[in-house]
Amino acid sequence: MNAVVTGGAGFIGSHLVDALVERGDGVTVIDNLSTGDLRNIGGHIDSGAIRFVREDLLGEGWQDLFRGADRIYHIAADPDVRASAGNPARIYAQNVTATVRVLEAMRKAGTREIVFTSTSTVYGEAETIPTPEKYPGMEPISIYGSTKLACEAMISGYARTYDWRSWVFRFANIIGERSNHGVIWDFIHKLRRDPRELEILGDGKQAKSYCSVSACVDAVLFAVSNTSEPFACFNIGTEDWIDVTSIAAIVTEEMGLPDVTLRYTGGDRGWIGDVPRMLLSVEKLKSLGWRPGTTSQASVREAARALIRETGDSS
Ligand code: NAD
Repeated sequence: MNAVVTGGAGFIGSHLVDALVERGDGVTVIDNLSTGDLRNIGGHIDSGAIRFVREDLLGEGWQDLFRGADRIYHIAADPDVRASAGNPARIYAQNVTATVRVLEAMRKAGTREIVFTSTSTVYGEAETIPTPEKYPGMEPISIYGSTKLACEAMISGYARTYDWRSWVFRFANIIGERSNHGVIWDFIHKLRRDPRELEILGDGKQAKSYCSVSACVDAVLFAVSNTSEPFACFNIGTEDWIDVTSIAAIVTEEMGLPDVTLRYTGGDRGWIGDVPRMLLSVEKLKSLGWRPGTTSQASVREAARALIRETGDSS
């Protein structure tokens, strides 16, 4: 299997690359390193296990790399939900335009399989929780969520028009080693700057599903191996949720800071486009035989430990 991974130097992409290399796939990574880091895949580059090409999907020169590829894992995107309100045109280009360019490059190269990383935010503030893939009211409340839903629609159209296989994964919050954004990362960095006080965006009651990156990659590869449809769409997450105040408690405990004052900015959400409650139904994936294996609480603790280790000393 020859695979191209866009965004393979990023957080989730690099863990996917680890798994593909491990099972012996030929891997080419295309990444512009805007948020990715070569250290995430440095070992594979040095060993010659993968080919790395620094290119921007909005530029030219990478399209020929799709020739001879059996499958594209299109992971590259601007994943910042909060920042998406500040520059909608930019995130449209990074997410929708880049995805359509990937689809066009596939069509021209004759590549017929695509795996795409979508998001829980396509559901908006869903009234059904846990939210199933067939939830009828897809009304994203963030620019980021809207761009991902648009990408899904384009993939569905291309796959059905040209008889491709596609897999679309709507992720809960994915956390763990090498992550470069998100609430745990944010808390650790704030506490390093000021170990006495922690600002929490919103009222701290926002409750969501948090899934470890290893479980996420495992679920992606499991679903891809066990389904073959023009448009196979799966939620990936844990079966429980955890609120932001509980995450703060885990992070402060793991950093050895029991006396931190929590300061809430107030309101039921952290920022424009934040969904206060998110829990995805993973029944569809479970019906194939997959099991989440861990909880949000355990995933948060594991991720906090990994990020504290990775980003410096733990005090
Ligand atoms: P990330 O920022 O670590 O990874 C994105 C990668 O894409 C980076 O390496 C970046 O350099 C690269 N990239 C971005 N724009 C590019 C471009 N125009 N050309 C080439 N490379 C480009 O983010 P992540 O958290 O690993 O997210 C990976 C994917 O998963 C994204 O599609 C994101 O929307 C999706 N997702 C992530 C989460 C999460 O909790 N982390 C949740 C839902 C969905």
